[in-house]
Amino acid sequence: MAAFTRQRSAVRLNAAFRTRATCICPSSRRHFLSWFRKPAPPPRPEHVPLLTQDNLFHPFSESPFPMLRARGEAIKKIAPCPVCTTAQEQGHPHVELKNVAFECPDCGWPTHCSEEHWKQDEEHEKYCTRLRESNEDEHDLRSGRRMVEFELPGPQPYEEAISFSNWDVFWYTRGFMSMDTERSRRLASKLLSYPITIGGALHQFSPLMLSNQRLTPEGSRSMAALRTTLHVPLGAPETGEAQVGKPQVRIFILGARAESSLPVHVWEQLCLLFPAAQLHIFFIGPQVSLPKPDTPPPPPQFEPPTPPPNATPEAAPSSDAASQLNTTPPTSDTALQTSTTTPPVPASPLPPLTHAEKMKQIQDTHAEKVKELQNRTEYLPNVYKPPPPVDISREKYTRNAINRYGVPSYTTPYTKELTVTGMRTNYIDVHHHFSETLDPYSDAFFFFSPGFGFPSENSFAEDGVTPLPQIASPTEWGPVLPAILESKCPVFVTGFSPADVERDVRSLSEAPDVAGQFEWVVMPGPNTFSSEKWEISDFDPRVMIKANWGIWAIRGRSKDIQERSMLDGLLPWRQ
Ligand SMILES: [Zn+2]
Ligand SMILES: [Zn+2]
Repeated sequence: MAAFTRQRSAVRLNAAFRTRATCICPSSRRHFLSWFRKPAPPPRPEHVPLLTQDNLFHPFSESPFPMLRARGEAIKKIAPCPVCTTAQEQGHPHVELKNVAFECPDCGWPTHCSEEHWKQDEEHEKYCTRLRESNEDEHDLRSGRRMVEFELPGPQPYEEAISFSNWDVFWYTRGFMSMDTERSRRLASKLLSYPITIGGALHQFSPLMLSNQRLTPEGSRSMAALRTTLHVPLGAPETGEAQVGKPQVRIFILGARAESSLPVHVWEQLCLLFPAAQLHIFFIGPQVSLPKPDTPPPPPQFEPPTPPPNATPEAAPSSDAASQLNTTPPTSDTALQTSTTTPPVPASPLPPLTHAEKMKQIQDTHAEKVKELQNRTEYLPNVYKPPPPVDISREKYTRNAINRYGVPSYTTPYTKELTVTGMRTNYIDVHHHFSETLDPYSDAFFFFSPGFGFPSENSFAEDGVTPLPQIASPTEWGPVLPAILESKCPVFVTGFSPADVERDVRSLSEAPDVAGQFEWVVMPGPNTFSSEKWEISDFDPRVMIKANWGIWAIRGRSKDIQERSMLDGLLPWRQ
């Protein structure tokens, strides 16, 4: 049986490589082996996009979308012209430093102060293609086309293994719609980078392995401990029944920003990689998104029931179906956390929605969201310290959790397998809620681009002028890492570029309570599940990053190792 499964997966993997290599990509790519996996989704009326695929390029000032016009204006206010900057740095007299105002006709971004400086700049060529790509991506996102790359698959059939070697085989083995264009790949990788970076790091088939020298022997022991809770013993079926009796796996995402505003059904994709586990995701940080305020629905108005003439039993209660989304009752643990602002709605006798129905509802609301995005007028520049992202939508069982944690917070038991909690506060202020129960068998920490090595704004070295790195600053990460290292739970960190990763790793040695107190779990290097979409900085459009470009991990140094090494020095026969 196991051999058969392996063989079958191998066939599908080969098929994945073949498809990509020869680029025979039919628009719905499933081949006959997959016919037995999932029923084909019912045909849906095609959206009429506002912009067609051959009309995605627009200079920012002429964009049909007000938010992109506002972005162009925001850049003009903060980004200096690169040619003026160079001239000033070279000490040319009488050079006035001007901001960008002229839009490059090839990429549509405001890139120079004038056409003259744009013509002079030979460096711009290096950036122009990526800027153009990004311009088209931004317009495509708002175009209103059907985004097949955002149509996410349901539960994984238990006999089909997921491969984590790269995005392509992951999407293929996980049953995603076909990613036919580079643009689809960029947008899908951006949407999924946060949950799948976590999944790819923790899963038993992780691409971070001893054999490719990313995982260390110590790290291998750490991951083995966590995987006993995430997976089943070798040979046992990896199904929901195996969740019984196991603790929830808690994933703490500290300093969370944009990732806390991802819709919960995107985070569910992380959960679906571990059918035998229950996950509790905690977003903790001063920039965590909180749910929109809870407004009670208007009192229902009485209307005499007028059934349509040809009403069929399954077509009738569509609004009931909407209220059926997430009818899974909260787990006992999360029920405790509630300070009920909305009393739980009694479970209706109707069966829970299938994944396909759930996805359809999500897509219906997606159409509204695209409309909202198309009409949004305000744009907040992505400068060094962005404000908290917009409020997220309130799920059915979302509860205020301020009574439990004493800070602005919420908890959403989304399904039996997934609970999400968000807290808008510094982690150190809530550490005492967890410090007693942290366990390397069930808990892991993630920092997405935490800026450990960035200079602090508030804390300075003894000379009073040199800023401390944030990892050593008492008001930023200073007290956090030592507290977590004590728990021996693995701590994963991502960075948005090679330089960002290097800066953070170097800073480990500058924090007195961190240096010498940790062991490597994953050596620093590229992340298989980084976003492939370039993010452009508004303060300088030449600065481009990819979210989660790199990944590494550490954990607190084990006591027994420290003691043994102490003995090593004292006992001559041990040397
Ligand atoms: Zn200039
Ligand atoms: Zn250009």
